[in-house]
Amino acid sequence: MNRFDYLRAADIPEAVRQGAGEHVAFLAGGTNLIDLMKESVERPRELVDINRLPLRDITEMPDGSLRLGALVTNADTAYDDRVASRYPLLSSAILAGASPQLRNAATNGGNLNQRTRCVYFYDVQTPCNIRSPLLGCCAFGGVYRYNAIRGSSPEWIATHPSDMCVALAALSAVVRVTGPEGDRAIPFEDYHRLPGDEPWRDNTLKPGELVTSIDLPAEGFAQNYTYLKLRDRLSYAFALVSVAVAMRLEEGRIAEVRIALGGVAHKPWRRPQAEEAMRNEQPGRQVFERASEALLEGAVGQGENDFKIPLARKAILRALSQAAAGTPQSQTDKRIA
Ligand SMILES: Cc1cc2nc3c(=O)[nH]c(=O)nc-3n(C[C@H](O)[C@H](O)[C@H](O)COP(=O)(O)OP(=O)(O)OC[C@H]3O[C@@H](n4cnc5c(N)ncnc54)[C@H](O)[C@@H]3O)c2cc1C
Repeated sequence: MNRFDYLRAADIPEAVRQGAGEHVAFLAGGTNLIDLMKESVERPRELVDINRLPLRDITEMPDGSLRLGALVTNADTAYDDRVASRYPLLSSAILAGASPQLRNAATNGGNLNQRTRCVYFYDVQTPCNIRSPLLGCCAFGGVYRYNAIRGSSPEWIATHPSDMCVALAALSAVVRVTGPEGDRAIPFEDYHRLPGDEPWRDNTLKPGELVTSIDLPAEGFAQNYTYLKLRDRLSYAFALVSVAVAMRLEEGRIAEVRIALGGVAHKPWRRPQAEEAMRNEQPGRQVFERASEALLEGAVGQGENDFKIPLARKAILRALSQAAAGTPQSQTDKRIA
C-alpha cells in the first residue's frame, strides 16, 4: 500500500505553502490523478486537495477576455453561455472528450495537467522514461498506435491526450499560475513542452506552482471554426488525430487563421509559419494543402502509427474546409457524419 498524507487547502496561499515540498500533488477532480495513484504510477507523499479554493468562476475581464477558473468543471465550461457563443471551438473540443460523467468531475486545471495515455506509462512492470528516467521506452517497437509523429525524441514518443488543450492552443489562451515565487502568466504555446532531454516534464510549471485560471483572449473565432477529432470509437476514446481551426475571414480572404493538432505530439502542435503563409489568401484546396504540408513537415511514424501522417493530412484539409465554410457544428452531438 502506498501511504500518503491528505491535506485540504482552505485558501490559495495555504495551497501554495502546502504544495511547496517534494512529492506533493494537487488534487482537483481526481479523474486522472486517482487512477494513476491506484496503479502506483504516481505515488505522492502528500495530496493537497484544492477543491475548496475560490477558483470556480468564469469572469468577464475588462479587456474583453474571459477568465476560466482552474476549478470550473469541463462540463460547466463547455455549457457556459459565454463560452458556447463566443468560443464554440472550445465547447466543441471539450464535448468531444471523455464522457458526461467525467466532464462533470474533471476541472480545467486538471485537464491541462493530465498525463499521457501511453500504455507503457500506465504499466509499472515495463520501463518508462517518464516514470523512471533513463530506464528506457518500451513504446519504440511496442504498441504505439496512439503515439507521436512530431517532436518526439529517442527517449519518448508519448502524446498529450487532451482535447480541450488543442482548442486552447488555437485560441492562444494564457495560463495563469501562482507559486512560491509569485504569479506568472504563461502563453499557451509555452505551457506544455516537448520531451527533449527531460521527458518526465510535461509542462513548464515550476515545483509547487498552482494553475489558477485560463484566460481566453477577446477574439473567439465564433464564425469560422472547427474541432475535428478522429478516433477508434465515436465516443469515449482519445484522439488518434484531432484538428482545431480558428479562422477569421474578411471579404472572402483569410485575415487570420490558427491551426492546432492533437494526438500527434507531446503538446498541441502549432506551426506559426504555416498559419502566416495562409494570410490574405482565398480559402481553397491548394492553400489548405500547403498548410497541411507545412504542419506535418518532418513527421515520422514508427510503423504502427505511420497511418497518422496521411490521416492528419486529410483531417487538416477537412477541418480547414469546414471552418472556411462556417459549417454549423453541434455542440452536443459529436458523431462524425
Ligand atoms: C476513461 C477516461 C476517458 C477520458 N477521455 C478523455 C478524452 O477523450 N479527452 C480528454 O481531453 N480527456 C479525457 N480524459 C481525461 C480527463 O479529461 C482528465 O482526467 C481530466 O481533465 C483531469 O481533470 P481533474 O480535475 O480530474 O484532474 P486531477 O485528476 O485531479 O489532476 C490531474 C493532474 O493535474 C494536476 N492538477 C489539477 N489541478 C491543478 C491545478 N489547478 N494546478 C496545478 N496542477 C493541477 C494534479 O496534481 C494532477 O497531476 C479521460 C479520462 C478518463 C478517466
